[in-house]
Amino acid sequence: GSPQEPMEGASSPFEPVPSSADGWTAPSAHGAGRAQEQAPETAGGPEHDQQQAGGQEPPSGLVPEDWQEQLERLVREKEELTHQLVRLQADFDNFRRRQRWELERSVDEAIGRLAARMLQVVDVPDPLPAPETLRTPERMPASEPLESLGLLPTIDWAAGFRETWQVGEAAAHRRLEWFLRNAVEDYHALRDRPDLDATSRLSPHLQHGEITPRQIWHATLRHSKGKWTKGVEHFLREVGWREFAYHILYHHPYTQTRALRSEFDSFPWSEVETPAYKAWTRGRTGVPMVDAGVRQLWRIGWMHNRTRMIVASWLTKNLLHHWRLGEAWFWDTLVDADPASNVLGWQWTAGCGADAAPYFRIFNAVIQGRKFDPDGAYVRQWVPELANLPTQYIHAPWEAPESVLRQAGVALGKDYPYPQEPLDTSRERALQMLEQWAKR
Ligand SMILES: Cc1cc2nc3c(=O)[nH]c(=O)nc-3n(C[C@H](O)[C@H](O)[C@H](O)COP(=O)(O)OP(=O)(O)OC[C@H]3O[C@@H](n4cnc5c(N)ncnc54)[C@H](O)[C@@H]3O)c2cc1C
Repeated sequence: GSPQEPMEGASSPFEPVPSSADGWTAPSAHGAGRAQEQAPETAGGPEHDQQQAGGQEPPSGLVPEDWQEQLERLVREKEELTHQLVRLQADFDNFRRRQRWELERSVDEAIGRLAARMLQVVDVPDPLPAPETLRTPERMPASEPLESLGLLPTIDWAAGFRETWQVGEAAAHRRLEWFLRNAVEDYHALRDRPDLDATSRLSPHLQHGEITPRQIWHATLRHSKGKWTKGVEHFLREVGWREFAYHILYHHPYTQTRALRSEFDSFPWSEVETPAYKAWTRGRTGVPMVDAGVRQLWRIGWMHNRTRMIVASWLTKNLLHHWRLGEAWFWDTLVDADPASNVLGWQWTAGCGADAAPYFRIFNAVIQGRKFDPDGAYVRQWVPELANLPTQYIHAPWEAPESVLRQAGVALGKDYPYPQEPLDTSRERALQMLEQWAKR
C-alpha cells in the first residue's frame, strides 16, 4: 500500500507508535516527511507485503530507533542553527544600522561644529534701508474689480489662519521681538517641542517678504550684544538652512521634481492617491503624532518642524508614498509654502535629498511623540477625541487596555482609527526596500 493509504494491520507512518521490543519505531512528526520521501522505494507490491508479514526487513515507513534519534537530533540541530542564523542576520543588520547612525551622528556633529564656526565668521550684509518713496503709476490701468474674480472660498476654511496669524511687516517685527525677548535663549533646548511656543514662527512672514533673513540676523546679534549663545547659534543656523535650500534649488533646479540623489528616481514609491494617502491628509492614520501634525497644518496652515519630519517620514517610509505627493499637499496647505525649503524638507526626510546616508532614518512616531510631546499636550490639542487618555497611552492608544479606553471615552476603530498595520511591520518593510535600493 502507498504511505497515504496504509495497509490494514500495518502501522501508519503518520501515527505515533510506541517503541517495540524489536527496536523499530515509527518516525516522529519531523521524520514523517523523510519517511514519506522514502516510502515509494520501500513500500508497495506483494513481495513487500510478505516481508512485512514475517520477514527480517523493517515494516514500511519504520526506521531503526538509533537512526530515528539521530534524525531527530539532526532536525533539532538544524532548527537551532537556522534560529541562530536568523538572529545573527538580525544582529548584523542592527550592528550595521547602529554603525551608520554613529557615523552619521559624528558627521552631523562635525558639520555642526564647522557650521558654528562658519556662522561666526560669515559676513552677512546689513539689511537694505527701506525705499524712501515707491513710485506708483500716475494712471492705473483699467481692471476687473477684485471681488468679481470670486477668489474667496464659500466655505470659510481659513478661520484658524486668522485666529493664529497677524499679517504684515509690523506684525513680523513684533513677533521677532517677542521671540528674542522670550524664547531665543532656550531655542537650542526647546526647538523640537511641538507642544510649546518655542520657535520664532517667522516662516510665513519670511515667505511673504514681511521680514528678511538679514533683518533677523542683525536684530538677533544686536539683542545678544554679539554673543554667540547656544540659543542664538542654533537659531541663526536654522535661518541659514533656508539659504541652503535656495542654494540647492539654484544649483540643481531639477530637484523641484526629481531626487537630488538620482538613484532614488526609480524607487517604487506609490504616486497614487491611495486610501492610506487620503487618510494621511485628513489626519486619520491612527497614529496620534502624525494625525496631530496634519490636523495642525489643516487648521492653521503651519506645522512644527519636528512634526513635519514625522508626518513626512510616515508618508514616504511607513506608507511608501512618493515625496512629491506630500510636497504637493504641503504646498497647497502651508502658509509658509516655499519652493526651496519644502522640497529640501521632503527630500531630506524621504532620504533622497541633501544628506549623507539618511534613507535608513525612519522616524518612529510613537517614540518621537513620547520624547518631544512628553505630556501629550500637542496630541490632546489637535486630536481631541484622545484628550482623556492617560499620558502613558496618548501616543499609542492601541496599547491601552479596554477598561482604560472606555474610561477615556475612546472607542478605537469608531471614534479614532486603528493604524493600518503594526508600526514595526511597515518600518521593517521600508528599511529593507530602501537598503536594497541604496545598494544599487
Ligand atoms: C517636510 C518638510 C517641509 C517643509 N516645508 C517648508 C516650507 O514649505 N517652508 C518653510 O519655510 N519651511 C519648510 N520646512 C522647514 C521648517 O519646518 C520650517 O521652516 C519651520 O518649521 C518654520 O517654523 P519657525 O519659523 O518657527 O522656525 P524656526 O525654528 O524659528 O527657524 C527660523 C527660520 O529658519 C528657517 N528654517 C528653519 N528650519 C528650516 C529648515 N529645515 N529648512 C529651511 N529653512 C528652515 C525658516 O525660515 C524659519 O522661519 C519644511 C520642513 C520639512 C521637514
